[in-house]
Amino acid sequence: MSDDIGNGAVGVESVEAESGVRLDPTEQVDLLLRDLRSARSGLTAREARRRLEHVGPNQLHRRGRRQWPRELIRQFTHPLALLLWAATGLAWAVGIVPIAIAIVVVIVINAAFAFVQEQQAEKAVEALAAYLPMRASVLRDGSVCDVDVAQLVPGDVLFISEGDRISADARLLDGGIEVDASALTGESMPVFRAADLVDHQVPLLHARDLVFSGTVCTEGEARAVVFATGMQTELGRIAALSERVEREESPLEHQVRRVAWLIALVSVLLGVAFIPLATLAAGLSFLNAVVFAVGLLVGNVPEGLLPVITLALAIGVRELARRGAVVKRLSAVETLGATDVICTDKTGTLTENRMRCTVAATSTGIVDLTIEQPRSDTTLTRLAIAMTACNNAHLGSGEGDAVGDPTEIAMLATAAALGVPGDSEALGWRRLRQFHFDSARKRMSTLDQGSGGCVRVHAKGAPESLLPRCSSELDADGARQPLTAARRHALADQVDSLARRGLRVLAVAERGIDDSATPPQSSDQAERELTLLGLVAMLDPPRPEVVAAVTACHTAGIRVIIITGDHGLTAAAVAAQVGITRTEPTVVTGSQLDRMSEDDLDALLDGDDDLIFARSSPEAKLRIADALRETGHVVAMTGDGVNDAPALRRADVGIAMGRSGTDVAREASTMVLTDDNFATIIAAVRAGRRVYDNIRKFIFYIFAHATPEITPFMVFALSGGAIPLPLTVLQLLAFDVGTETLPALALGREPSEPGLMRKPPRSRAESVISGPMLLRAWLFVGVICAVLAMAGFFYVLVRAGWQPGEPTGPGEPLHHAYQQATTMTFLGLVAGQIGTAFAARTERVSLRSIGVLSNPLLLWGIAFELALAAAIIYLPPLQAVLSTAALTPDMLAFAAPYPVIVWGADEIRRWALRRHTGHEPMGAPSAD
Ligand code: ATP
Repeated sequence: MSDDIGNGAVGVESVEAESGVRLDPTEQVDLLLRDLRSARSGLTAREARRRLEHVGPNQLHRRGRRQWPRELIRQFTHPLALLLWAATGLAWAVGIVPIAIAIVVVIVINAAFAFVQEQQAEKAVEALAAYLPMRASVLRDGSVCDVDVAQLVPGDVLFISEGDRISADARLLDGGIEVDASALTGESMPVFRAADLVDHQVPLLHARDLVFSGTVCTEGEARAVVFATGMQTELGRIAALSERVEREESPLEHQVRRVAWLIALVSVLLGVAFIPLATLAAGLSFLNAVVFAVGLLVGNVPEGLLPVITLALAIGVRELARRGAVVKRLSAVETLGATDVICTDKTGTLTENRMRCTVAATSTGIVDLTIEQPRSDTTLTRLAIAMTACNNAHLGSGEGDAVGDPTEIAMLATAAALGVPGDSEALGWRRLRQFHFDSARKRMSTLDQGSGGCVRVHAKGAPESLLPRCSSELDADGARQPLTAARRHALADQVDSLARRGLRVLAVAERGIDDSATPPQSSDQAERELTLLGLVAMLDPPRPEVVAAVTACHTAGIRVIIITGDHGLTAAAVAAQVGITRTEPTVVTGSQLDRMSEDDLDALLDGDDDLIFARSSPEAKLRIADALRETGHVVAMTGDGVNDAPALRRADVGIAMGRSGTDVAREASTMVLTDDNFATIIAAVRAGRRVYDNIRKFIFYIFAHATPEITPFMVFALSGGAIPLPLTVLQLLAFDVGTETLPALALGREPSEPGLMRKPPRSRAESVISGPMLLRAWLFVGVICAVLAMAGFFYVLVRAGWQPGEPTGPGEPLHHAYQQATTMTFLGLVAGQIGTAFAARTERVSLRSIGVLSNPLLLWGIAFELALAAAIIYLPPLQAVLSTAALTPDMLAFAAPYPVIVWGADEIRRWALRRHTGHEPMGAPSAD
């Protein structure tokens, strides 16, 4: 980081204003506003547009983007490539130049493929940023609106509230906030910044009335004027983003890398063991033995595997983003597939977060707010005034223009319908102070001054939180009546009966402050001795698509636990409506959870009950995530507030809400839902399972060719040379390079198998490469391919009159037949590999059930493979290099059924497996 951070002194540092004038952000606010040619009411939209054109978008340019030469070099120098280089060196040293050149060609082709795939993966991940535009609230044309942060310009008046990432350098105009500036200064403790804290002669970053891009507001609210954007900001000047984000290796890639190494090691050992075997048993010259050892080594090093996995994960990430789930780490895709518990909140995720007040209950009775009619009721009017004053939302001019918390928007709309202007300034109340809402207190209050000079506290919040702070209630005549125990009881019953209907209930209260009394300094002082004005109940309809998503969860063996800040009965009603709870759920409130021991919590989470954690705090979320992880579950957890960040980090998949969530929650999460929708989580789990399955499919495919590749060399060696070598090393290399990558890539795009969401989640401990998979690859499909390839070889040779031990070398009468026979082995390998590709498409179900031709990419891959094989067999220049010979129609006819035999044999194996294990998943392939 630059020295600017700590040493810049006021007066020394200045910022170039949009007009080109150097301005000092710490000068008096009015001077600063003048220099910025702005005002407390912000800019006009037209002026902001003009400035945007002049200063450019509020973005940081990354430096040092030209990384690709390094990336390309890395493809040639990673350990598996080095192994191949060693093989090249060996071949060169013993004088077999064509093989050395061939291996270099293999290395180059592999590196090129891997490079292209990784670049594509990188692009897919970088494109995700477009799905998550950062928004900021600014004043334009005198009203509050949400804009993309890239559109911020100097002079804009910015609203900053809890959880916002500050996206430009700004001077506070009013309010006070806690700021986490660790990204900029490295200080881990939040610092307080307020408009009225003016410092002189301190470093710019330490000035207590300035906030900087890249820092985060963790508490409070403020209004600020932007004085620097984009590369002009302190963050831009430090250009901390000069290096791009490093991609960490996912557990899956790690596992596969380890296995790849294991295989490489086995190949080296096999190669080394082959040399004495071939020289002593088969009487081969040392030189030839080295040639074969090198061939075996090159054939079996699975160097193409990792890039294919990376690309498959990246494609998964891109698909998820299109469906509304933006994943920030590639590895999240595989974790999603293993998720077995989803802890979800209610508001906005299960419901639409479109609140509408339906009922108000005051001392004068219950009012149905859905019926529009003029009402003249003092209590109701006071209730409406309190709902408007203690409110941070704005209704805007038309429908859909409202900004702010949906609960507060609903209250403003209701107050407006009750005849109270929908904004506190028009109402004639000026806010002196705010004790903001937080999900631990579950209430908020404001200190407001009326036009007549009187000062009042207005408060609203969860009834359990606010009612204990009320000592009286406003009656029909506007007089305060003490709240008796009986009345409290009646109110509690009223809250329960409204909550049971799935309504969200808030209590609203007020307190007048005497002129002589000192105004309250803390929320505790403000929110006491309150007078209850009434209860307001609002409807937040469940999202229609959630029902199907919840059913999908249940069939997929995924448990859904609701953790909500809302009332237990409200949550239970909504849970029943969307099908999460099928029996009477166990509802645990925040205070009950606080009293619960770790063991009791573990036992509760271990049971089968439908669970709802109500009135819970962010700490409760963290505790639940911890307990679930400790007991071996893979947990996905949603969250949206600043305080949810630790729980989001602790869960295996932290899920933040793109629309309603704070920037802090988004940053702490692994996945962001752009539509805040529970159904999207399930779509993501399904995609995660599919990607993981597909990765297993192509690992199987790539492993399956080891047996048929080794067999010809073994046959040759074990026959003691009586059988000529059925495949030359160059032919092996040609097969290896030409056939592996494209069908493997295509397998990464397979549609999901039927029954994908009917099987239980895979266990956290399960390895992507399992014993049964290796058995199927090496000993079942591999052996069948090997037998078929050898059958073709002997068919051609024996038909030409060959007897074991007869010479087949150049100049011998059988030489042409031998060349045709090795070409047959080559064709046999290709044909077997085509059958393997089809077999790899499903792990359990029949190929018919997913559609034989349903993966067009695979068909293209196979067409390419066949065209390459035809060129190798029939084009004279390639014949000359690879010692192949043209095959006759009867030979082609002999190999034609190979793919069907391989695939058919595996089809029978799968059928037997399904019969053996009992159930056959049914249904059509799912759309994803
Ligand atoms: P979920 O956790 O499922 O999203 P929630 O939105 O109800 O549920 P919180 O936002 O933590 O959770 O709210 C908890 C409670 O606080 C609410 O049930 C409501 O009673 C009260 N509350 C919510 N918003 C406000 C607000 N703006 N002002 C005052 N009280 C509020």
